[in-house]
Amino acid sequence: MRHARNETHDPALTSWVQSANGHAEFPVQNLPLGVFAPSGGSARIGVAIGDSILDMRALAEADLLPDEWQAVFRADALNPYFALAVEQRADVRRQLSRLLSDGANRAQLEPFLHNASACAMLMPARIGDYTDFYAGIHHANNVGKLFRPDNPLLPNYKHIPIGYHGRASSIRPSGTAVRRPHGQRKSADADAPVFGPCERLDFELELGAWIAGSNDLGSPVPIGDAGDHLAGICLLNDWSARDMQAWEYQPLGPFLAKSFHSTISPWVVTAEALAPFRTAQTPRPEGDPQPLPYLMDADDQAQGSFAIRMEVYLSTAQMRASAMAPVKLSETQFANMYWTLGQMIAHHSSNGCNLQPGDLFGTGTISSPDDGGLGSLLEMTRGGAVPIDLPGGETRTFLLDGDELEILGHASASGCVPIGLGSCKARIMAGQPSA
Ligand code: MN
Repeated sequence: MRHARNETHDPALTSWVQSANGHAEFPVQNLPLGVFAPSGGSARIGVAIGDSILDMRALAEADLLPDEWQAVFRADALNPYFALAVEQRADVRRQLSRLLSDGANRAQLEPFLHNASACAMLMPARIGDYTDFYAGIHHANNVGKLFRPDNPLLPNYKHIPIGYHGRASSIRPSGTAVRRPHGQRKSADADAPVFGPCERLDFELELGAWIAGSNDLGSPVPIGDAGDHLAGICLLNDWSARDMQAWEYQPLGPFLAKSFHSTISPWVVTAEALAPFRTAQTPRPEGDPQPLPYLMDADDQAQGSFAIRMEVYLSTAQMRASAMAPVKLSETQFANMYWTLGQMIAHHSSNGCNLQPGDLFGTGTISSPDDGGLGSLLEMTRGGAVPIDLPGGETRTFLLDGDELEILGHASASGCVPIGLGSCKARIMAGQPSA
């Protein structure tokens, strides 16, 4: 069986970094990789452990890493790590687990720890290409119903993992403010379009998948090998300008409505860390077509999904001014995906398209079948028709300047120490006046 648990997942394992033990996000069973800058320092790779970050460049410089990893961990981005073979990435995890669990290492490694709250989290990798899928079937259904009440899913949906090529350059780590985009829109009853600040600014709750390894141009990744190309995951908010989207999307799909900014959580929770949380893909409802053979693999169906729960919180300027806690808008599960990450990788490369280390996939908005787990305001407000009530008497159809959105995600399974994906948070600010 691939993706087996090993000693690094042992629930009895603890760290000499005391804050890691019982930590909701980063216990020693997680060990996510990211890129950070300590106060006054330059960008470097780190490992989150409790409330601290282990400085991997400092470890490399102190000759505490094997020779073959020197170049990987002296880099200021994870692309060289993503280029490692799957066995090498598993070795990195085993070594990190030993370093951070064995108390004998404490004296030597403690000087290489930084207080996470004093560090800036940066982009984990240079993203070559970003593709956003549409694999959350309940989202696709809900949005489709707004436009086609009797026929929400288009005929290709259950045969193809639908996606579009997004924009890599405007992806930013959690904490970077989002400027409200200006753009062209046309309401149904208007004769002509206008240009101005987006009036229907929305979020999309998604997961991001970081691609490991590469395939040569012209050489598809077989579905059976797709799992080896998953380096890890993060949280993703695919900010969406719905008024711009509605006007521009036909016939070629999303463009400026999506490319102004996307937010990711900065830690890459590795495929190896996620091994205990793999689950079977949710069975297709009776009567749905079987995917074509290039998208079907017994192993991928048996353990290609993940026991991950995601939540969205909103805090408005008024709520913060009156010291109110953020309000939970939604809670959903990875299991609401109609396609696996493996199927997305196999499909994306099936025409021979070459994937590269550090490419990023978005899953598409992951909504649940019930109203408590909707992944966008478009769905919660029925296309903007029904405002939602917020604590303090405010309402929202779409996001206002000063609103702050946070997505959280946690993986859990019986007999395992749960792990977190960290935070994907950003605040909306007024856009630049356009020329
Ligand atoms: Mn999206």
